[in-house]
Amino acid sequence: MHPLIPTSDATSILPTGAKTPPITVIGTEAIRATFDEQCLQQAINSRLAPGVTDLVLNPDAHCGYGAPVGCVLVSPTHVYPGPVGVDIKCSMSLLQLDLPADQIIDRPTRRALINAICERTPTGAGRGQRHAKKSRFVDETLGRQAVIEGASESVCTQLGIPPEWALRCEDSSHVGHDGTSAALGERLQRHLDGSFFRKFADKINQLGSYGGGNHFGECEIVHVEDNDRARAAADVFGLQDGKVAFLSHCGSRGIGHNLASGQFKALQAKFENWNIPLPGGDRELVYAPLGTPEADAYLDDMALGANFATVNHLLINALVLEAFQEVIPGVKGQLVYFISHNIARQEVVNNRMSWVHRKGSTRAFPAGHHALKGTIYESTGHPILLPGNPQAGSSVMVADEGAALSCYSVNHGAGRMLGRKAAIRQLDQKEVDQSFTEHDILTNCRQYPKDEAPAAYKDFDEVLRSVKSAGLATEVARLKARFVIKD
Ligand code: 5GP
Ligand code: MN
Ligand code: MN
Repeated sequence: MHPLIPTSDATSILPTGAKTPPITVIGTEAIRATFDEQCLQQAINSRLAPGVTDLVLNPDAHCGYGAPVGCVLVSPTHVYPGPVGVDIKCSMSLLQLDLPADQIIDRPTRRALINAICERTPTGAGRGQRHAKKSRFVDETLGRQAVIEGASESVCTQLGIPPEWALRCEDSSHVGHDGTSAALGERLQRHLDGSFFRKFADKINQLGSYGGGNHFGECEIVHVEDNDRARAAADVFGLQDGKVAFLSHCGSRGIGHNLASGQFKALQAKFENWNIPLPGGDRELVYAPLGTPEADAYLDDMALGANFATVNHLLINALVLEAFQEVIPGVKGQLVYFISHNIARQEVVNNRMSWVHRKGSTRAFPAGHHALKGTIYESTGHPILLPGNPQAGSSVMVADEGAALSCYSVNHGAGRMLGRKAAIRQLDQKEVDQSFTEHDILTNCRQYPKDEAPAAYKDFDEVLRSVKSAGLATEVARLKARFVIKD
């Protein structure tokens, strides 16, 4: 077993066995025990891969493809599709409603809300607008514009998304490898001219949908922490204590999956042709040196997928607000934030402009961080949206200065404790369903998927304790679920 050497209560280092500096690991003793051998080996393979200057393992880390889910990989010279993942820009978003908690105590109101939301935002693999009778139909022309421009004013207006929500996005649009959206237009056209996107219209039809698996929509009650700093941050974020909010988790659906797997295939073929070694012998750790046509193509495809995910989230939030207004006329809503956990972004690390790959990791810039200059978050830090599980709750946090230790990143959730197969084998369906009844949390599922049960995830309180003790971030509010929409 690879040894973790504690450096404080909630931090340790993982030596790489080479001259390369060690990996930074965030997590209390109890969390350290959750990292299995394969996860640590993936971290070492990723750290020793060409051009990698930093690797951080977060408390939610578990085995992924190539690199662990729950890690940050930094490189000033290379891009890595694996440490972005197949669901490009999988993200969280939070909508604050101007609706007191007691308005949704009764079950019929919550049931009506679940139905109104499901009529607009389909769930399930492969599902799109045609599976939801009150969804927003997006034609191919507008779909093209969305993947090229992201949440531009024109795209938002045409889709009925309040354009000011773009200010409450980590990134509201992504450009191509050369810094222009023209590069994305050309790349998309190439895909459409070839056979890559045979069913482009079907993929555009998925704008405004959750997809399957771990993606979800969840109705929450906001509990702002009882201290001045939390109250001040909550004010800036637009969080309202004791009121209803809605948390969404989804990514770039079929289009992102298509683009990412196309990139894996293309790069794997190159590695075979050139006969160059794979980091750790792992086919999921293929890479491209910056400035090569391969890296340019990857960055363009990642941006196309990321723009889709952005518009997808904002449209879902607009549709969820519409659903609330159908059931409770006059209710108002405002986006709190939209933040990704599967993306590579250009940031300065150790005084060098680098690609920071966050795979199952969330950006965490504290107050005063240079990248927040001129934004509404300059004096507080931006909101960090951390899902836990429906029963333990979820959290809105804000970064502290200590986040420099983790390349300004925190985890993206509790992280998986049991693999899907193990959860299905070990957990009892009746007990899982009963636990939701006991917590008075409604769901749209006849039977809650066992592989998504709260018991399949790590202890969220211990994960939060790790983040706080390591000095990375502070809690602003806790979110308590009232109903969950899952596939
Ligand atoms: P991902 O699938 O993106 O790796 O996981 C995101 C995180 O979401 C998980 O680590 C888990 O903590 C959290 N999560 C998964 N399902 C739910 C849910 O239904 N509700 C909440 N609040 N969190 C969830
Ligand atoms: Mn995700
Ligand atoms: Mn995802």
